[in-house]
Amino acid sequence: MMKLSCRDMGTDCDFVAKGETAQEVKEKMMAHANADHMDMMKNMSEDEKADMMKKMDEKMMSE
Ligand SMILES: [Zn+2]
Repeated sequence: MMKLSCRDMGTDCDFVAKGETAQEVKEKMMAHANADHMDMMKNMSEDEKADMMKKMDEKMMSE
């Protein structure tokens, strides 16, 4: 099981995305971000989004 905390992405949010694979966790985090952090997402450039995807890989933990 992999997990990634939204707080690790620089937010003040208790959401934690979990999944069997890194891909699944990233999809859940993106869906969450698009739903709950729309203001943050809409102000991000493509470069910043790419950085965020990289950060997700770095912060992801397996349990
Ligand atoms: Zn969040």
